[in-house]
Amino acid sequence: MSFTLHGIGVSRGIVIGKAHIIERTELDIIEYAIPVDEVPLEVARLHSAVQQAKLNLRDVRKEIPPTTLADIAAFIDTHLLMLEDSAFTFDAERLIKDLRCNAEWALKLQRDALVKAFDEMDDAYLRTRQDDVDHVVTRIQRILLNYAPLKHELPDHRLEGMVLLADDLTPADAILMQRNGVAAFVTDHGGPLSHMSILARSLGIPGIVGVHGIRKYVDENELLVIDAREGVVVGDPDAAALSHFRGKQAERQRHAESLGRLRGTATVTVDGCAVELHANVELPDDFIAAHDVGASGVGLYRTEFLYMNRSESPDEEEHFRTYRELIETLAGMPVTIRTLDLGSDKDFDAGETRSVDPNPALGLRAIRLSLREPSLYWPQLRAIARASAFGPVRLMIPMLSTISEAHQVVADIRKVQADLASSAIAFDEDMPIGGMIEVPAAAICADSFAHLLDFLSIGTNDLIQYTLAIDRGNDAVNYLYDPLNPAVLRLIGNTIDAGISTATPVAMCGEMAGDVRYTKLLLGLGLRQFSVHPTLILEVKHVVNETDVGAVEKFARELLTVSDPDEFQTRLAT
Ligand code: PEP
Ligand code: MG
Repeated sequence: MSFTLHGIGVSRGIVIGKAHIIERTELDIIEYAIPVDEVPLEVARLHSAVQQAKLNLRDVRKEIPPTTLADIAAFIDTHLLMLEDSAFTFDAERLIKDLRCNAEWALKLQRDALVKAFDEMDDAYLRTRQDDVDHVVTRIQRILLNYAPLKHELPDHRLEGMVLLADDLTPADAILMQRNGVAAFVTDHGGPLSHMSILARSLGIPGIVGVHGIRKYVDENELLVIDAREGVVVGDPDAAALSHFRGKQAERQRHAESLGRLRGTATVTVDGCAVELHANVELPDDFIAAHDVGASGVGLYRTEFLYMNRSESPDEEEHFRTYRELIETLAGMPVTIRTLDLGSDKDFDAGETRSVDPNPALGLRAIRLSLREPSLYWPQLRAIARASAFGPVRLMIPMLSTISEAHQVVADIRKVQADLASSAIAFDEDMPIGGMIEVPAAAICADSFAHLLDFLSIGTNDLIQYTLAIDRGNDAVNYLYDPLNPAVLRLIGNTIDAGISTATPVAMCGEMAGDVRYTKLLLGLGLRQFSVHPTLILEVKHVVNETDVGAVEKFARELLTVSDPDEFQTRLAT
């Protein structure tokens, strides 16, 4: 019988295919004694398994497409480095010799010791490396135990067109899936912001995460429909459901092809309102994508990605070089560089400050952290100011909650600019300074921020999280994450109004800006700048170009007066 399950969509696309279930059984590692004269043979067995694991992983590494985000390749490189590090095998070898135990057991002891050492560290970055140790050790142990490779690991196409179901997946799995033609995936666990999800998006593999118990409901080879955009899995679809999804699939395909024509065309509503479509960028590959899709600028550069997967913070020169590369790629388009937004789910190591934070989403995050940690803050301010000499740079402050924070940053930038001037270093003295409106307090008092700052940008991902008191990374409360909640919409309306009455440009750069279900409504509320992931720019442009703002304005304004969710939904539906 047909059934439907829900999770969080990771990348778009509708896939109809048969299920293949990955059951990663816990490895049964037992200890046994090795006679003294066989110890050299056991050591050789270890080395040969390590060598085999290395070859397998190098094969995976070779498959990474050149367009893949750099940090994903780095993730695989980390595992390779571990396997190539003689210290890694030396310890296991020593355990075999000292304890005269089997290689699998020696690896288990070594992994336990490393995990314990990581647990005791205050360093959040190193703590995340526990998973890496686990992946690498398990890979070698599977070879030692002659476990058959999992089907999706085999270099053939027997899973072509199938949907992989697993507890959780790693970035290496994503690469193997692509190599072997797997069409989609569904996992019990995992978040939409994990490395695996980022890679799946970049490889264009549709998937859904957080579908708890998926493998209990589905049989091997059962037919499934995956609608990744909606986060829906349909099991055993009947003929009507199949024809519905096939129709939807064909329609989306035609739509995607037709969007290509919009590249390079103006973004103007039917009644002549010009709209700016900027790109959100994180990593260097996105800089090129933003340029190629014809974005009219970068509305959000999330610089915190410069700090991730490493133990040292970038220095002023590294910041400067990266910003300059982005500015040059965008060739004259405005580039909005946001000061770091580390903390909360964007984990990092800031030593003492961070390790005692019991509630990181409400703690030292973003601008609060910058103002507390001079070593993170000042090099970045200087680098942004220096980069402003090379093109139209705008500096943006994340997570403002009180106007005093904005005053502080503006004063600090003036100080940096004065220092640069005294050293005869070039900068743009008119560099616009803007702030993100993503804390309800800032949205309510948006007028004061609009008076002080040159532009505002609404960060709906956090604005929704903080308004509705739901952790945006927690799939258990994801059902409450609603951009159309009347309270959220009023805060958005209030911010746009503050911009209109003070002639301060207001943009939106949260995920809501890229979701075409909301484009008309936002235009009706007066939003004229959207900043979205490069892959969404043409979709949003398409909706903007067919909107008559005059026709939706009244409806959007009236919606702001409705608090009853049922009435709200009824009006939306009509
Ligand atoms: C937001 O909160 O909407 C936003 C754009 O910032 P981030 O997702 O980086 O927190
Ligand atoms: Mg945010």
